[in-house]
Amino acid sequence: MAKITLDNLRHSYTPNPQRPEDWALKEMSQELKDGGAYALLGPSGCGKTTLLNLISGLLRPTQGRILFDDTDVSDMTPEQRNIAQVFQFPVIYDTMTVYDNLAFPLRNRGVPTAEVDRRVKEVGEMLDLGHMLTKRASGLTADGKQKISLGRGLVRSDVNVIMFDEPLTVIDPHLKWVLRSKLKELHHRIKRTMIYVTHDQTEALTFADRVVVMNNGEVVQVGTPIDLFERPTHTFVGHFIGSPGMNVLPCSVEGGRVGFMGLPIETASAVQTAQANGKLELGVRPEFIKFESSGIPVDVVKAADVGRFRIVETRHREHRIRLLLPEGQPMPSGTAHVRFDPKHTHVYRDGWLVN
Ligand code: ATP
Repeated sequence: MAKITLDNLRHSYTPNPQRPEDWALKEMSQELKDGGAYALLGPSGCGKTTLLNLISGLLRPTQGRILFDDTDVSDMTPEQRNIAQVFQFPVIYDTMTVYDNLAFPLRNRGVPTAEVDRRVKEVGEMLDLGHMLTKRASGLTADGKQKISLGRGLVRSDVNVIMFDEPLTVIDPHLKWVLRSKLKELHHRIKRTMIYVTHDQTEALTFADRVVVMNNGEVVQVGTPIDLFERPTHTFVGHFIGSPGMNVLPCSVEGGRVGFMGLPIETASAVQTAQANGKLELGVRPEFIKFESSGIPVDVVKAADVGRFRIVETRHREHRIRLLLPEGQPMPSGTAHVRFDPKHTHVYRDGWLVN
């Protein structure tokens, strides 16, 4: 196990990067704690795989250093870094038994037979593969095969970090949650440093203690799932995380007072007039907006029933405001009013949270 330090890391695939868009990974520094469960989350092309490959050693960074504990591993190969990787598609030997597949990484490293047997049985039990250790891997379903891949990552006790690159892509939707919760449970049991790459917010938020959100090659926020929900530091995080995402509305700041279309708005923290240059926006999640007898006048446009609540779309002039209406609460008719919870209403300047 190791703490991983990413020190002024930057990567470009072009030989002579000049423009910001030449960088697949923009400059970043971050410390990943020993034994932590991390997710790299972001849309396709945002740089997740680039960052993963820099950590694993498949890529050499254009700039910066990577440390495992106090050792600079920037010039080391993936083998020297002692990493286990689980990919999108199961990497297993079809002709071998489940047992031999799990034993392979250990036998390869000359681990004594008794220790191999102990580890394989332990990991087999953890992954509910215990009853099929003697079966040929070829007979297993896709999720069974991916469990073997996970097991091959978990079986070694000498790895610094286990990396998962979209490991649930080939798994049936109804089994995804089973493996997702299994992985979380495994992390609690074995406490290794784990990095999980995904574009799926549910996977990231269920697995990780800390999520690294990326967009356009840039790390926009590193935080707990609650941080990302309650205090997105960028409007991108507000949009990308949540279903539906955060409402982002234009606003003005005059004499320290925040306004939306001329209406006063209370926010989580005070905004100084000096901070009010650039593009100013308000961010408030649908969970933190309520219908009330006074406030911002809106027209109700439509509502979608999603079980425990309804997602209601309203409009104030040309601006769409979505809110969640809990089950059992009446839908207002005609012109209604909405109010934002001040504690969860934030001001953004050029996309970034003010304060
Ligand atoms: P996905 O989820 O689609 O795999 P990602 O978030 O992992 O995307 P990367 O694969 O890291 O993103 O890509 C980041 C950027 O770097 C993209 O613009 C991509 O086109 C570019 N890129 C990735 N690999 C290479 C390469 N080998 N050569 C040149 N450009 C590359």
